[in-house]
Amino acid sequence: MLQASDIRYLVVHCSDTDDDLTASDIHAMHLGFGWDGIGYHAVIIKDGTIEQGRPHFWAGAHVYGHNEESLGVCLIGRNDFTPEQMTALDELLRDWISRYPQARICGHRDFPNTQKTCPNFDVAAWVKDRGLTG
Ligand SMILES: [Zn+2]
Repeated sequence: MLQASDIRYLVVHCSDTDDDLTASDIHAMHLGFGWDGIGYHAVIIKDGTIEQGRPHFWAGAHVYGHNEESLGVCLIGRNDFTPEQMTALDELLRDWISRYPQARICGHRDFPNTQKTCPNFDVAAWVKDRGLTG
């Protein structure tokens, strides 16, 4: 059970796929891993639609060792995100940061114990550019 005050990180991911997946595809994929379903709290598909994943009170399965203190959002794509996706990400993170002002926005790859390159861009620089705090 995730308490709002426990949320320290808002973690940006990408699906690292060429396919136009949806939240329900990822749900099926993560069920296939033997998980309890989609590991993210939100998914942003290519047209910029924000699809819901786990509710915020349910700890995700997206960042090793930090699931009990973070929310995760996944951009569909590898490094070819659409402007609509980036606008949607901006809106989503503004909403999340207003609800969890103590949290910091970061990319999956920014955690020290991962080999991942996800989400394949510099989230901290992007956050600064957009004037997002966190
Ligand atoms: Zn990731």
